[in-house]
Amino acid sequence: MFNLEDIKSFAPFCLACFGRSFGKIGFGLDNRERGIEVLNQLEIQEGVDLENILICEEGDCKICDGLISEIPNFVKLVESSISDYSVSSFKIGTIVDKDLLQNEAEFHSLFGENLSEPLKSQLNREIGIGVWKSSDLEAKMNNPHVVAIIDTSYDTIELEVKSLFIEGNYSKYDRTVPQTRWPCKSCKGYGCKKCNNTGQLYPDSVQSLIAKPFAKETSCSEDLFHGMGREDIDAAMLGSGRPFVLELRMPRKRAIDLVQMEKEINEENGGRIGVNNLKFVDRKRVAELKNTVCDKTYRVDVSIRDRIPIESLKKASQRLTGTVIEQRTPTRVSHRRADLIRPRLINEVEVTSLQEHMAELVIKAQHGTYIRELVSGDEGRTVPSLSSLVNSVCKVEVLDVLHLHLDAKEEKNV
Ligand SMILES: [Zn+2]
Ligand SMILES: [Zn+2]
Repeated sequence: MFNLEDIKSFAPFCLACFGRSFGKIGFGLDNRERGIEVLNQLEIQEGVDLENILICEEGDCKICDGLISEIPNFVKLVESSISDYSVSSFKIGTIVDKDLLQNEAEFHSLFGENLSEPLKSQLNREIGIGVWKSSDLEAKMNNPHVVAIIDTSYDTIELEVKSLFIEGNYSKYDRTVPQTRWPCKSCKGYGCKKCNNTGQLYPDSVQSLIAKPFAKETSCSEDLFHGMGREDIDAAMLGSGRPFVLELRMPRKRAIDLVQMEKEINEENGGRIGVNNLKFVDRKRVAELKNTVCDKTYRVDVSIRDRIPIESLKKASQRLTGTVIEQRTPTRVSHRRADLIRPRLINEVEVTSLQEHMAELVIKAQHGTYIRELVSGDEGRTVPSLSSLVNSVCKVEVLDVLHLHLDAKEEKNV
């Protein structure tokens, strides 16, 4: 059935490694039992005591290089490294020396195609069973809280802990706060004189203010902020707020009280930023959020160079209402966006007040409309504009986002 001389050339090996060569036959046996079974058959067939010739202690095995005997140690290693994280499910992965795997593959090829179980598979399974037996953790193939990858050559472990994703809406009242952390350009975040050693261009951001209590509560290694679009730094975000997902990487604690967190953030930052409607979500929400766009309503304070009658301003607003304007990419963003002419629908422009040179307008416009340029005309790059219609220089002095019309959201065409 097999060539004994070929098998001998790989000896000595442990019973488990021998049995694994026929890993897919004989239900209900583990590899060691299977090894004994096959050895007995082979001895009858050959009429010699093969155990002495072929089999050794697990620690001396030339196939697994003693890794099978190391399984209890690997179990302890996994347990101690994941004990810092409050997880309820896990999965084991192993990295095994390439030469060892190559040698094993050649050994297995002596016994026929697709009969054998790979070493890594036995290691993963038996380490997994060991961890499961000595802890209350659930072994889970799909989407476990933690994947423990053991590098068997160095006895080191790398943990991949599933991020926590928290969705909510944020409001921003402070017109000096950017949405996300903004690393200092001079030192790229390391800290220098220019940034007062903070590494940041701005001391706070919506991201940092929201993430701070979460980082403390979960002891995560890092946080990422995924917003559904963003407003300018100097624009407020009002109304029911803007959807975001906060991602917490490598959290040590997963069970957090979101009601308490919401309260804490709102009390700590009252008057600057706020959050509402916090909930746990899956990673896929990040992409969904990034791909969603919607019309928005803005409130703007506009300075007008000349004193114009309110009728003239109202007429211009009516003229813009329901109009598709053409906007060429503003020079202020042309370094990061393609120079294109984009048609944009202005749903509605409403004049709420005009006093001397200052007007207040409420504008509802299609996603991606540059509101400052709709007002100023951007030197003829936006047509028509409020400036061109009232025939005076108009400029947005203050801009707030009042509402995101998410009820009529659409997919972004990228
Ligand atoms: Zn072995
Ligand atoms: Zn700096």
